[in-house]
Parts: sequence; structure tokens; C-alpha cells
Amino acid sequence: MPKSSNIFTGISSENQFVAEFPNEISLYLKREDLLHPEVSGNKFRKLKYNIARALEQKQKTLLTFGGAFSNHISATAAAGQLFHLKTIGIIRGEELGKDLENTLAQNPTLKFAKSCGMQFKFVSRGDYRAKDTREFQEKLKNEFGEFYLVPEGGTNDLAVKGCQEILNEKDEKFHFIAASVGTGGTLAGLINASDINQKVLGFPALKGDFLSEEIEKYSIKNNWELKTDYHFGGYAKVDSELINFINNFKKKYKIQLDPVYTGKLVFGIFDLIKGGYLPSGSKIMAIHTGGLQGIQGMNMILKKKKLPLITF
Ligand SMILES: *Cc1c(COP(=O)(O)O)cnc(C)c1O
Repeated sequence: MPKSSNIFTGISSENQFVAEFPNEISLYLKREDLLHPEVSGNKFRKLKYNIARALEQKQKTLLTFGGAFSNHISATAAAGQLFHLKTIGIIRGEELGKDLENTLAQNPTLKFAKSCGMQFKFVSRGDYRAKDTREFQEKLKNEFGEFYLVPEGGTNDLAVKGCQEILNEKDEKFHFIAASVGTGGTLAGLINASDINQKVLGFPALKGDFLSEEIEKYSIKNNWELKTDYHFGGYAKVDSELINFINNFKKKYKIQLDPVYTGKLVFGIFDLIKGGYLPSGSKIMAIHTGGLQGIQGMNMILKKKKLPLITF
């Protein structure tokens, strides 16, 4: 692979001090959002070894799945372009394909992915649910030819391996490592790379009790726990309390959070600290997994709902 195009080598992110709370509790943010402008945060980590594998196999095409505002779709499209791989996005929502011009005008994520050369196939919710079946994948092979398949949200064993690299020896001083959970792949990587004396806290961004199973499947330790009270009604659901929190956090600490993942995570951490649930002297490191590309699209939705917008 040409060295100039390899964004994945020699990468680490800064631990930024955010705030000191009563009882000598302190919070740091690991700025994975700054790893790359377009292949952001944990999606960068998850793609690293998958792209290496695809190139090893001399594949020419990456095919993956996602919702219409997905950070993973956006990151895969950008990474594909950087590595001269064709990208195909299987997008949930058949109706979005009916008038693509109009869809792109209302969807900055898909517009960006298209500008990177991604080809879309819009499928019904039913077909989307069947995406992991052999039958559906055969159909895709017939339609698109050979491809390297990256699962929804990018989670597989190579993705978990990439996410293990989020942590390094300097992070051993933290008592708690906290991250948002979508599929659980990132949390599994953090668990695997953590010290057994550290506690890894996952904050699911969606409802559902299937997540523990996913995390167990990929992780090798039990030093973790899910905090399930901070999904705000479900995946990509927000309310004005969350938006105000994100906006105030930005004003005070000059760090942008996203509404789908990291906003809910940091809200949850503040809430646990306020409630006295963390021991005094705790040093917490939360992972800023990125996702900022989704703000523009979320603001278009908030505007329609006459909710406050995210300052960006
Ligand atoms: C995808 C994503 C997550 C969730 O990661 P999983 O490995 O699927 O749990 C968290 N934060 C951001 C910003 C994401 O884009």
C-alpha cells in the first residue's frame, strides 16, 4: 500500500483534561474524534485492520450497511476513497432511493458518502434485517460481484483488534474508562486492552438487552458494566435536555459532542458523578469516539421538529 495514503500508521490521540468535580473526581476525554477529519473516532479504529485485510485479499470493493445518517457509512466512504477501493453502501430505507436528488439534499451524510464515490442500494427495513443471512449476501454477490464485507457498524474481530489500540500504557492511571455503545465492538476492544483493575463503563446509545451478549462475544474480561439509563428513548432519539447539555458543554469546555453517542455518554457520566455513584478520587477517562459528521443532519431533523439546534 502506498505509504502516503496510509492514514492508519503511527496514530494516537490526546487525553484532554476536562473537569474536576467535588470529591476529587476528575474527567478526561480521549480525543479520538481528532484522529482524522473524515474517518473519525472509533470508525477509524474499526476500519484499520479490515482495510488492511481487504487489500491483502486484493479486493477492489468494500460493501457495508448502515442507516441514512450513519457515521460508519460516512467513514467507510471516505476511507475507501483514500485507499482506492470502490465502496457500496446498503442503506436502510427503500423510500430514500425513490428521489435520490431530494434525499441527498436533505441528508449531508449520504451526500458526503456519494461525493467520495460510494454507490448506494436502498433496501426495505425487512431486507435490511435479513442482511446477515447467506441468501441476502448471495443476492448482493450476484448484483455487485466480489467484495469485502464490512458488517453494520463495522464490528467484527478485526474491528475489535483495532479498538484495542485506543488505549495505551499511559491510560493505566485511570480508574474508569467510559465509552458509548452502539454494537459493543468498541467497548469490547477497550475491555480487552484495559487493566484488570480498571472498570470499563459502557453507555448504550439505544434500548435493548442484546448488547451484553455482543460484548461478551468479543471480550476476554469481566471488568465492565453497562449503564443503561442514558439512551434518551432509543437510537438517535434526543430531547431538549440532551441538546442543551451538549451546547452548554461546548460553551464551557470548548469540546463538541455529538447527539447520538458521545453527548449521551458524557451526560451519563455527569449524572453518575452528581448522584454520588462514583467513589471519591476517581479518575475517569471517557472516549470521544467522534460522530460529529452527524450533527448537520440531526439539526435538519431538529429544525423540522422545532426543537433547539446543536451549536456547531
Ligand atoms: C459507531 C459509534 C459508536 C458505537 O460504537 P460500537 O462499536 O458500535 O459500540 C460510538 N460512538 C460513535 C461516535 C460512533 O460513531
